[in-house]
Amino acid sequence: MNIISSIWKYKCPRCRKGDLFVEPFDFKTPLKMHEKCSHCGQKFEPEPGYYFGAMFISYIWTAWLALAIIGFCMLILGWNLEASFALLIAAMAVSYFFIMRISRSIYIHIAVKFNKKLADTV
Ligand SMILES: [Zn+2]
Repeated sequence: MNIISSIWKYKCPRCRKGDLFVEPFDFKTPLKMHEKCSHCGQKFEPEPGYYFGAMFISYIWTAWLALAIIGFCMLILGWNLEASFALLIAAMAVSYFFIMRISRSIYIHIAVKFNKKLADTV
């Protein structure tokens, strides 16, 4: 598994086997993560407030997505501002938890190095 699919599938950054988030998805606890990796024991929240930095990744995602949606609606489809923003709000509501989760996944993948030896052990 490469780093992109590991981020995309919310896998442990060190072994790329264990799950980051508690599945199945639950709207009451959408960001509930396992304390540590079930495969290699990597801690997923090394210190309190660890995922504060993920907020900046989510900000970048959200800003570019909003710009792309508004630009597409207004410049390509020729919609007015109100209709474009209505679609933007709907798109943001739908993608909210996805962006929060993928940002956390990207953030921990930046901080924790992949260990091939751990990945090869069963
Ligand atoms: Zn692991």
